[in-house]
Amino acid sequence: MEKYILDVIVIGGGQSGLVCGYYLRRTGLTYLILDKQPNCGGSWQHGWDSLTLFSPAVHSSLSGWLMPKSLNFFPSKVEVIDYLCQYEKKYALQVQRPVEVKEVEKDNAIFKLTTDKGDFYARAVISATGTYGKPYIPEIQGREKFKGIQMHSSSYKNAEPFEGMKVIVVGEGNSGAQILAEISEVTQTAWATRNAPEFLPDDVDGHVLFNVASAKYYAEKAGIPFDPTQYNLGNIVMVPPVVEARDRGALVSIGTFKEIYENGVVLSDGSRESFDAIVWCTGFGYDTGILNKLVQTEENGKTPTVETRSAQTEGLWLVGYGGWTGYASATLIGVGRTAKQTVQQIQEYLTPIQESK
Ligand code: FAD
Repeated sequence: MEKYILDVIVIGGGQSGLVCGYYLRRTGLTYLILDKQPNCGGSWQHGWDSLTLFSPAVHSSLSGWLMPKSLNFFPSKVEVIDYLCQYEKKYALQVQRPVEVKEVEKDNAIFKLTTDKGDFYARAVISATGTYGKPYIPEIQGREKFKGIQMHSSSYKNAEPFEGMKVIVVGEGNSGAQILAEISEVTQTAWATRNAPEFLPDDVDGHVLFNVASAKYYAEKAGIPFDPTQYNLGNIVMVPPVVEARDRGALVSIGTFKEIYENGVVLSDGSRESFDAIVWCTGFGYDTGILNKLVQTEENGKTPTVETRSAQTEGLWLVGYGGWTGYASATLIGVGRTAKQTVQQIQEYLTPIQESK
């Protein structure tokens, strides 16, 4: 049976995959977005109940369509999911779900994608699988001995299960600060951070982090030295629950710990402190395991690219994984620039192939 070969397949229908679709639909190339989840919204569907954006709607929009104004300054995760689902409909993006891509191979100039719904073929592939599928927990001596609850932030929903417990939250980023703020309202908590937490000024929202990333990108592009200290604002966005928790003294770090025992942790001064639960807000790797036959990846899933273009396999691009695939590319406001550039490169890459067809 003749194989139907698409020009482009995008793996992942989250914000990154959708904005690639937004640019692809304007090229006339045949494309398809495959997503393993039955519903739209990408990994926003798995965020905790109270999760909000750390920038207002106006600074959290994908290319083409401003996110509708929210009732709150920081839109809720439900509003983000709704925006992504509407975005998909508004541009009639070609999305097939649920389709889980198991593996990607390349034979001559054609990619073969093995999925749970059969094989798909394409001349170019964009991997937009995100990070949610690769939660990261550091290897700490004795972790497997701990008798209490251990949970990664990707599974956290709300503080209810922790009521009456003594909980240590690990990690100095936005997830750590926001989850600690919530749990510390209902029970005794401690905060373990490798570095001293750096809070943004209260009157600054997350889009300033995007401005700093943009300034760095354009300075480097123009060959001008970039002095980060002039921007050193911190990295924890002071969303209301975090401001409230800081003001009641709940956001104070005990530093880090080097070992875990059955009932708690061993602090850097050697003293022991008992806990009933550990919540790991220690981030994510990159969910690129399905590309293992095409590229070498580091432990965390990162693979050599020139911005989004694979440095190892012609015809493969990676979008939305943050810094190494383009500044701020793991954010709603930032992913559009690299999606647009990726589709332009794919058009140039496919033109000669098109002409020879
Ligand atoms: P995802 O949203 O993870 O989507 C990837 C899609 O690929 C998923 O639907 C998944 O089902 C699919 N997929 C994966 N593997 C396969 C496969 N093998 N086959 C088929 N489909 C597959 N960003 C902001 O802009 N503003 C914020 O305020 C903000 N706050 C955040 C707060 C938290 C706590 C976190 C964790 C992230 C936050 N982010 C924020 C970042 C943002 O949520 C993510 O970067 C974003 O979800 C990445 O979008 P994506 O499309 O690249 O990946």
